[in-house]
Amino acid sequence: MPSHTEENYLKAIYKLAEAEPDTAGVSTNRIAAALDTRAASVTDMLRRLADKGLLAYERYRGVQLTTEGQRVALLTIRKHRLWEVFLVQQLGFNWDEVHEVAEELEHVQSPLLMRRLDAFLGFPALDPHGDPIPAEDGAMRRPAHRLLADLEVGDRGTLAAVKNTTAPFLQYLDKVGLQLGALVEVLDKVGFDNSFEIRINRERTALISAEVSCNLFVTE
Ligand SMILES: [Zn+2]
Repeated sequence: MPSHTEENYLKAIYKLAEAEPDTAGVSTNRIAAALDTRAASVTDMLRRLADKGLLAYERYRGVQLTTEGQRVALLTIRKHRLWEVFLVQQLGFNWDEVHEVAEELEHVQSPLLMRRLDAFLGFPALDPHGDPIPAEDGAMRRPAHRLLADLEVGDRGTLAAVKNTTAPFLQYLDKVGLQLGALVEVLDKVGFDNSFEIRINRERTALISAEVSCNLFVTE
C-alpha cells in the first residue's frame, strides 16, 4: 500500500505530465517545485518509487509513470475530488475551503468507503472546481473547455472550471460573482494589458485581468 508521500508524488507527477503532454518526462526540478521540496530528496523518493515499479526514472530524461503508478495517481485524484464534492454538497463548505481538507482525506485507504461515497453523492462527474472525477478504473472524461482568455469580443460562454484552485483566487471569484455555471459575455478586450470587460449572467459588468482570464475555462 503506497504511503501518503508516495501518493502525493504520483499525483504531482501525473498532473505535471498532464499539463505538458508534449514533453517526454517530468523533470526532477519541476517535481521539487510542485512539492516544495529539495531536488535531492525528490531524487531519493523517485528511486524508491522506481524500485516499486510505479515509475520509470532516467537521470536526463525525467520521470514517467508506469501503468501501476498512473493507476495509483488517478485513484488518489478520484478520492480527493469525491471528498471535495462531499464537503461542499453535504457539509456546507465553500469551494475555497475544501482543498486542504481533501489533501488529508484523499489518503484514506478503503475502496468500499469510496464506492459508497460515490453512490451517496449520486456518481458526480465533476468536483466543485469543475475538474473531472476519474472512475474507479481510472477512466476520466475531460470536458471540452477553452480558456476565457481565448474568447473574442462578442463571444459568450458558461464558466465550467477553474485552472487555479487556490483559496485566494476562489475568494476573488466569489467577490466578483463568478461561480461555476455563470454566463460570461466578452464586452471588450483591452489591448494595452489584455484585460477583459465582461458581463456576468446578463446582469453586471466586471473588469478582469489577463491573469484571471487565463485561469477560467468556459464551454459554449
Ligand atoms: Zn482540491
